[in-house]
Amino acid sequence: MTHQPSASKAFQTATRVPVPVTVAYGDGIGPEIMEASLRILEAAGAAIAPEPIEIGEKVYLRGISAGIEPEAWESLRRTKVFYKAPITTPQGGGFKSLNVTVRKSLGMFANVRPCASLHPFVETKHPDMDVVIIRENEEDLYAGIEHRQTDEVFQCLKLFSRPATERIIRYAFEYARANGRRKVTCFSKDNIMKLTDGLYHRIFDEIAPDYPEIETEHWIIDIGAAKLAANPAQFDVIVMANLYGDILSDVAAEITGSVGLGGSANIGEHCSMFEAIHGSAPRRAGQNSANPSGLLLAGVQMLTHIGQGDVAARVQNAWAKTIEDGIHTYDIYREGTSRELVTTSGFADAVIARLGQEPVKLSAASASGSAKAPVIPAIIRREPQKREMVGVDVFVQWAGDNPDTLAELVGGAVRDGGPKLVMISNRGVKVWPAGLPETFKTDHWRCRFMFDGLGNRGMVAELMVRLAREGVDFIKTEQLYNFDGEPGYSLGQGQ
Ligand code: NAD
Repeated sequence: MTHQPSASKAFQTATRVPVPVTVAYGDGIGPEIMEASLRILEAAGAAIAPEPIEIGEKVYLRGISAGIEPEAWESLRRTKVFYKAPITTPQGGGFKSLNVTVRKSLGMFANVRPCASLHPFVETKHPDMDVVIIRENEEDLYAGIEHRQTDEVFQCLKLFSRPATERIIRYAFEYARANGRRKVTCFSKDNIMKLTDGLYHRIFDEIAPDYPEIETEHWIIDIGAAKLAANPAQFDVIVMANLYGDILSDVAAEITGSVGLGGSANIGEHCSMFEAIHGSAPRRAGQNSANPSGLLLAGVQMLTHIGQGDVAARVQNAWAKTIEDGIHTYDIYREGTSRELVTTSGFADAVIARLGQEPVKLSAASASGSAKAPVIPAIIRREPQKREMVGVDVFVQWAGDNPDTLAELVGGAVRDGGPKLVMISNRGVKVWPAGLPETFKTDHWRCRFMFDGLGNRGMVAELMVRLAREGVDFIKTEQLYNFDGEPGYSLGQGQ
């Protein structure tokens, strides 16, 4: 192998002022892969000034439940760029996910995971796969608002906001445009969740015409996921909500050949974070054997983000050439395809030796560094729509089984001119009036009251007082509104 210790000098870009970057070496294999990745980036001429911070296991074990100290926040808020190695979350309860805390506290709304296969150099069933998953990063069930509502029933709120949905979908199109991608696909489950996932699909359809050069399509998530797993080459950029994206981006990374090869970017208006998608692989720690590719490719995304697309292309190409040359770490090494089994640092040496070269079979990044960071769409606030209260859902814990009995109990609170009981459902299925005896019922009942005309909060409060007097064990209310005349609530199944 030809070592080129002068590579860093050869690629130094004298005119660039080094960009401060907050760097966390992480836990487990983190320090080894971060050291290797930084060495490659610097040798390629990246103008970065790393500022190390400590996060993860040691910080958690000092009793800081978020895994990050106040000084680290200060560095992140100042540099606005975070290059992060994986961390170990200690076993046992009480530790908050550092990733979720950092992403949400600093408004990193988009998670971007490119998943491309490296056929024939890394074994995969999908030789033509080149997919980018763009996942909304802050909302959905990951708002983490959960309650145990009754003895039997637990709830997690799935929250979608219009501004955040518009921003992630527009970002997916901007990403496609900046990276010369031809198609954006949206996955949602709007056949079931007509308001939340329906909003996602509707906004996707609203925004698509602003990007006429980009082909668009929508798949219901279940069949979309099946198609992604069976024939990923049919997809290009896929945008989806937080939970779906969390699951499917791991699936997509895995079917490229190895989860150890994937990098990801968490993009925000104020701060962005770049990391490998894998964890800290503690059993491999200290052996100088882990594959640094995931973290290195996250570094490539970081360089594009800070406007050093030329250096990003140089690293990407040298890395691809190394893979093509069969210089492989243990996780992708295969007799027959691979040529040399290397250590973490050996892999870094091999990439550095190939800086300036391009891959022959794998696709090369444009050496002119034409890859640009996508425009970050602004949050758009719209004029509020006309909101009219038309009813209220009262959720009740009740241990009985016959909905007619509950209807009688609750009906005791109904007065002339006040809201009328129109439906009772159990876990979303209508059980009164005219429910089916076969429906399984828990102790969690929704009693839907509709106003005769429009209602108000005072009328809801009066109803609640009457329900309390009747001994109804209500656990939550949800007002029913029309927005510009359109119902802002779903019907019960069977209603
Ligand atoms: P993991 O991704 O760390 O490791 C799973 C297996 O994948 C490893 O045993 C190893 O065989 C292989 N592997 C992973 N990365 C590799 C690499 N770069 N090179 C070669 N092989 C590699 O997942 P895990 O074992 O479930 O989690 C370990 C720890 O990592 C846990 O504490 C978890 O909380 C943490 N974690 C952190 C992050 C993060 O910081 N972003 C992400 C996921 C998991």
